[in-house]
Amino acid sequence: MADDIRPSKTNLLVDRFGRQITYLRLSVTDRCDLRCTYCMAERMKFLPRVDLLTLEELDLVTTTFIQRGVRKVRLTGGEPLVRRDVVSLVERIGRHLGNGLDELTLTTNATLLSDHASALYAAGVRRVNISLDSIDPAQFTAITRRGDLAKVMAGIETALSVGLKVKINTVALKHQNADEIPAIIEWAHGLGMDITLIEVMPLGETGEDRIDQYIPLSMVRDQLEQRWTLTDQPNRDMTAGPSRYVQITETGGRLGFITPLTSNFCAGCNRVRVTCTGRIYMCLGQDDHVDLRGLIRDHPNDATALNKALDQALFAKPEKHDFAINRRGEGAALTRHMSVTGG
Ligand code: SAM
Ligand code: SF4
Repeated sequence: MADDIRPSKTNLLVDRFGRQITYLRLSVTDRCDLRCTYCMAERMKFLPRVDLLTLEELDLVTTTFIQRGVRKVRLTGGEPLVRRDVVSLVERIGRHLGNGLDELTLTTNATLLSDHASALYAAGVRRVNISLDSIDPAQFTAITRRGDLAKVMAGIETALSVGLKVKINTVALKHQNADEIPAIIEWAHGLGMDITLIEVMPLGETGEDRIDQYIPLSMVRDQLEQRWTLTDQPNRDMTAGPSRYVQITETGGRLGFITPLTSNFCAGCNRVRVTCTGRIYMCLGQDDHVDLRGLIRDHPNDATALNKALDQALFAKPEKHDFAINRRGEGAALTRHMSVTGG
C-alpha cells in the first residue's frame, strides 16, 4: 500500500478564476498506429524517444499533481497503448487509488485493448473512453487511413468482458460519418455504452480542410430529434466536464455532446494537460505552457522547484479558449496536434 499523499487545504491548485484543478490528462506518447484524418497528417514526424518523459518522470509529475489535489487522472496520447511500458505506468499511478486518487482512466483507439484490458483492470482502471468514428469497416479504414475495425471491436468486447465500463467518443465529420451517427448510437446503446459526440477542433495540420470536416453538433442534434426523443439531463455540477448529456427514450441510453465551437464550456474547467514531453498546458485551446522536463532533468530531487512550476502554470490558466473555424483554407488555430497535447 502506498503512502497517503492527500493534499492539505493550503496546497490545492486553485486558479485566478477560482477553479480548482482536480483532473489531469497526461499524454504518454505522441505516437499512434492510426492516422485519423482530423487528428494527424498522413506522414507524421514523431518525437525522438529521448524527448519523452520516462516512466519515472511521468510518475513523479503525476504524483506531484495528486499531492496538489488532482483526484482524477486520464492517460491519453497519441495512442497510450502503443507505449511499451504503459501498463507499468498504470500500475505505478494505480497505487494512489484510494490514497488521494479517485479515478484512473484511459482514452484509447482500442486497437490493442484486447491485449491489455485485463492488466488495466487489475491495476485499478474501471472505465475507458474509446474513440470510434465509424462502425462500417471500409469507412473506419478511410477515416483512420489504415485501421482495422475488427481489432477495435475485439478490444471493446474484451474490455466489457473483463468488467471495464466503456464510453464511446465519436467525432462528427460532415462527409465521413454524419449519416452514420444514428447507427453508431444505436450500436453503442445496444451494448450498454454511453456515447459522446465531439465537434472537430482546429488543432494541428492534417492535410485536410477543416471546413470540409466540420459539422455543428446543433445540426446533428436537430436531425436526431426528428427520429428520437432526447431529454436533457441536468448538469451534475459545473466541473463535471464539457459533455452535455441527453437521455434517448427509444434506445434507452445516454448521449453526450462536446461542443467547443458552438458553445463554450470553460467556466467550470477543472483540468490541466501534461504532454508526453513534460509541458503543462492549462488550456487545450491556448499555446501558453510551462516546461517541466528541463526542470526535472536538471534538478531531479527538487520538489520545491516542481511545485513552483505548477504554481506558475496555474497562474497562466486562461479564462477561456478561442477556437473558431471560419474560412475555407484557413490554417489550424494551433499548430500543435491533439495527439501531442493529449485529447
Ligand atoms: N488515440 C487515442 C484515441 O483516439 O482515443 C487517444 C488520443 S486522441 C488525440 C483523443 C481524442 O481526441 C479522440 O477521441 C479523438 O477523436 C479526439 N481528437 C483528435 N483530434 C481532434 C480534433 N482535431 N478535434 C476534435 N477531437 C479530436
Ligand atoms: Fe491516433 Fe487517437 Fe489521433 Fe486517431 S485520434 S490518430 S487514434 S491519436
